[in-house]
Amino acid sequence: MNFEDNLVQPRKKTPPINSPTDPLDTTPGEEELLTSLRANSWDAFFGQDDTKKSLQIAITAAKGRSEALDHTLLYGPPGLGKTTLSHLIAKELGVNIKITSGTALSKTGDLAAILTNLEPSDILFVDEIHRLPKVIEETLYPAMEDYALDIVIGKGPSARTIRLDLPKFTLVGATTRFGLLAGPFRDRFGIIQRLQFYTPQALSTIISAAAEKLGVTIDESSALEIGRRARGTPRIALKLLKRVRDYVQVHKLKTITNKAVHEALDMFAIDTLGLDDSDRRFLRQIIQKHKGGPVGLSTIAATLNEDQLTIEEVLEPYLIQVGMIQRTPKGRVVSKIAYEHLGEKCTE
Ligand code: ADP
Repeated sequence: MNFEDNLVQPRKKTPPINSPTDPLDTTPGEEELLTSLRANSWDAFFGQDDTKKSLQIAITAAKGRSEALDHTLLYGPPGLGKTTLSHLIAKELGVNIKITSGTALSKTGDLAAILTNLEPSDILFVDEIHRLPKVIEETLYPAMEDYALDIVIGKGPSARTIRLDLPKFTLVGATTRFGLLAGPFRDRFGIIQRLQFYTPQALSTIISAAAEKLGVTIDESSALEIGRRARGTPRIALKLLKRVRDYVQVHKLKTITNKAVHEALDMFAIDTLGLDDSDRRFLRQIIQKHKGGPVGLSTIAATLNEDQLTIEEVLEPYLIQVGMIQRTPKGRVVSKIAYEHLGEKCTE
């Protein structure tokens, strides 16, 4: 069994998501730290209780029948633990996991090579599965349903199709955009789980556990303060912890205190609700240039010189979650909560 490093492709984010305004953007050092802090047991994976329970039942049942786990789809905003969960599923099943992403798989030949090399019950994890090219998606249909691959050999009149039998594998897909998956594709997943944003309390548990692993001391209220500013997202919580740890180290402090958290995160302009410059610029743009909305996404993206996907997948989910904006059929509308938080006057 190969739990950690069986990478078909290194986990890479695609450029549109990874713009400079992405609060999930990580440096290589931060990425290494995140990998080292990856939860490697169910007990170390905090929160998401319903998802954990459903997965554990499905895994126990599959193991009991000596069958492959049903194809599983995990969806929700980035950084909530989809990749970590897929590793935990593989570990619990005692099988190999191959990792790839929707942007890395462009040729049916590559897919065939990966699938034919799997062993029975192995997991193929496809991150950003909504980005798979249509042709790959359609090749996956018989692979998921009948464990068979239809491959065309040759070109023109001499072309012929051969059917390759595959081991009974499990496809685990992760996506931030459930709505972009075609109906027939979604229907082929027996298990579909939506991950939720975490509460500041849950994040503070993740932060305290990570601090212990890193050998830094942090009290409960400081962990909670970082948790409050982490946009409901473990990946951001761990990234902020690293920044605060650096700050404490440079200032030769022995422990992480509330004061240090405030000072360190204020330096990065991350406010008490976890909003950064990009969020504030986005909200102010709608308030000041469009009277609070409704305004279309493409208009805001153009005036902010920002990528639409980053706005939709990274900025907006959290702003919607905390009630600062609403997506309406006519466009984005900023709420009173946002006006108050930014100290802007609401004219209505
Ligand atoms: P995603 O695949 O959804 O983008 P990841 O699985 O890469 O998210 O998680 C990002 C980081 O946050 C990892 O270091 C991971 O270990 C940590 N993490 C995510 N969810 C949890 C959790 N519930 N408990 C502990 N750590 C978590």
